[in-house]
Amino acid sequence: MSTINLHTSIESLKGVGVARADLLRKELGLRTLADLMHFFPNRYIDRTQFFKINQLQHNATELQLVGKITQLKTIQQKRGSRLVATFVDETGSIEMVWFRGIKWIKESLKINTPYVAFGKVNWFNGLYNMPHPELELVTAYKKSLQTAMQPIYPSTEMLSKRGVTNRVMAKMMQNLFVEVNNRFQETLSENIINDFQFISKNEALFNVHFPKNQHLLTKAQERLKFEELFFIQLQLIRKNLIHKTKIKGFIFDIVGNNFNNFYKNYLPFELTKAQKRVIKEIRKDMITGAQMNRLLQGDVGSGKTIVALFTQLIAIDNNYQTAFIAPTGILANQHFNAISELLKGLDINVMLLTGATKTKERNIIHKALEDGSLNILIGTHALLEDKVQFKNLGLAIIDEQHRFGVAQRAKLWMKGSANEAISGAIPPHILVMTATPIPRTLAMSVYGDLDISVIDELPPGRKEIKTAHRFDSNRLSVFKFMKEEIAKGRQIYVVYPLIKESQKLDFKDLMDGYESIAREFSKPTYQISIVHGKMKNEDKDFEMNRFLKGETQIMVATTVIEVGVDIPNASVMVIESAERFGLSQLHQLRGRVGRGAEQSYCILMTDFKLTTDAKTRMETMVSTNDGFEIAEVDLKLRGPGDLMGTQQSGVLNLKIADIIKDAQILKQARNIAQQVLKNDPNLIFEEHKSIKKAYQQMSKNKAIWANIS
Ligand code: ADP
Ligand code: MG
Repeated sequence: MSTINLHTSIESLKGVGVARADLLRKELGLRTLADLMHFFPNRYIDRTQFFKINQLQHNATELQLVGKITQLKTIQQKRGSRLVATFVDETGSIEMVWFRGIKWIKESLKINTPYVAFGKVNWFNGLYNMPHPELELVTAYKKSLQTAMQPIYPSTEMLSKRGVTNRVMAKMMQNLFVEVNNRFQETLSENIINDFQFISKNEALFNVHFPKNQHLLTKAQERLKFEELFFIQLQLIRKNLIHKTKIKGFIFDIVGNNFNNFYKNYLPFELTKAQKRVIKEIRKDMITGAQMNRLLQGDVGSGKTIVALFTQLIAIDNNYQTAFIAPTGILANQHFNAISELLKGLDINVMLLTGATKTKERNIIHKALEDGSLNILIGTHALLEDKVQFKNLGLAIIDEQHRFGVAQRAKLWMKGSANEAISGAIPPHILVMTATPIPRTLAMSVYGDLDISVIDELPPGRKEIKTAHRFDSNRLSVFKFMKEEIAKGRQIYVVYPLIKESQKLDFKDLMDGYESIAREFSKPTYQISIVHGKMKNEDKDFEMNRFLKGETQIMVATTVIEVGVDIPNASVMVIESAERFGLSQLHQLRGRVGRGAEQSYCILMTDFKLTTDAKTRMETMVSTNDGFEIAEVDLKLRGPGDLMGTQQSGVLNLKIADIIKDAQILKQARNIAQQVLKNDPNLIFEEHKSIKKAYQQMSKNKAIWANIS
């Protein structure tokens, strides 16, 4: 079979054929022999071990039995029928059950003939049963290759329905190895292999499918995980390098009047060390001649806004305009107010553009943008509309990135400069700020092509927010506590969930909650604000403003206040139905308090009955205020795909590595990838030949790349 190569379609493999090839492509995305070879088992079971029926445990997982079928009967049910076999060994009996393919199975089963049965055992109605077991005649079993670790491949419902069982999969793999064993070229360099004492690519592939022993399986997994992560990192880092050489950026080499004047005369506090370091990193980025593409991470309240402001002052000192985009109108307003206030003594023109901006005002903004008299434009998505054109946009800052799509980020590039609509326009520098800390490993995998700055220090004098978890039954004592705080002059947020899918019910909860609070905290002693998504923007702003000015003591709201809102006198955050919020949301909400000098509190109200995950979330919130620590727990609970949304999940579509469990390998892989590219950015060294080949092969398979910014 010399015509077969790794890129041959799987249908040419013995035992596959057109229909099955089609099924494997649709269900698992497998096209070529190489794909199949890289379709890895997700676990292994010991198939040299057999159980006796009287040893079964209620919570047993997949296992093997030896015995005979003594009886077969078809039972009619309301919805279709099921086939039940009585399976016995010398210690007892269990039922085997089939719901599909009954006719065929019934015909092929032999009564009173020894079988090896493999499957998952359930305990139901006082009896053990094994649904859809894999049965193999003992005579056939004895002839086949039995290893201590039998691979179990990931499967789908459709696959098992169409008869592609694990055994069929394993058989296919055996045929595959007969065809193409040892044909894989080495993908790593000799140096890497020696340094890490990796086994060869071929050995690794063989042992991941047919492990000779536990030791070799571990070696195989280590090597394949490293390889997978290494090539992803190589691509991300290389993308970043290419970006830096190919994509030109403005050179902001003047640190002039505005920056210095503001720093010396108007900055209301001392910058933290971390803020200073990050501003330096950004400054350095903006004089290289390449476009800046930087992600700024910092916990809630770490002071990202002031860093954004300094960055803008640099752009303005160099005679460029800046755009500052926030995800909501409330936030844009807040940034606008804060920045206008801070810049009061300087001759800098700042304007606000949101969905609520009136046409007349809009026209003024458009004009000021185009004639260059407007220095800083702050706003929401409204800023991305085509009508909004800058004279010379030099910097765009995106706050609270995770609400912002990649496509929208790309749109900013086009804003370029109105007078350079011709080709060759230089894109603005981009600074993206995240709302929530991202675990390091995740940041490396998803934003590996961006440069990352981290503010890892809070401004001095902040008191830890005290967090408590209370049940609905404690409500009266919570009310009492709220009154005590209000008596001290503090303000309180009470937040309700508002999830799209259950909007109506949520809205009712919010209103019920509002009414019960209004009853308890009655006028004229108490004033209450309410803000929710169904209100008009003007009304929201009006209510927010009343609270901001201290005219109301309680703000009842849905998560519209989630990100960024900064009201220092608010010192208590009560979160209703806290079990329905994710960890990062809870942390964001809690970050709304603790902004002033007083002791602040967060109270998580939940139902008494909680899922294990919900309990973990509450316990995590109570035990730590550290956003990075919370993000790690969140990653473990929800997995990387969920955490980042679907846009980036392509990068996380890993075949064998797991960015949580294999964090250590990921760090090593990134380091090595960095080293390799530092010395040899185009992979032209002889020693990198194998890496280059594999890299090119992978780049052709562009699946990963289409999905990243
Ligand atoms: P976030 O990083 O969550 O966006 P902000 O930029 O809103 O945080 O800052 C939170 C609060 O801390 C603001 O009131 C801001 O004025 C204040 N702040 C920022 N940096 C410092 C500092 N170095 N010293 C004291 N207060 C600071
Ligand atoms: Mg912020």
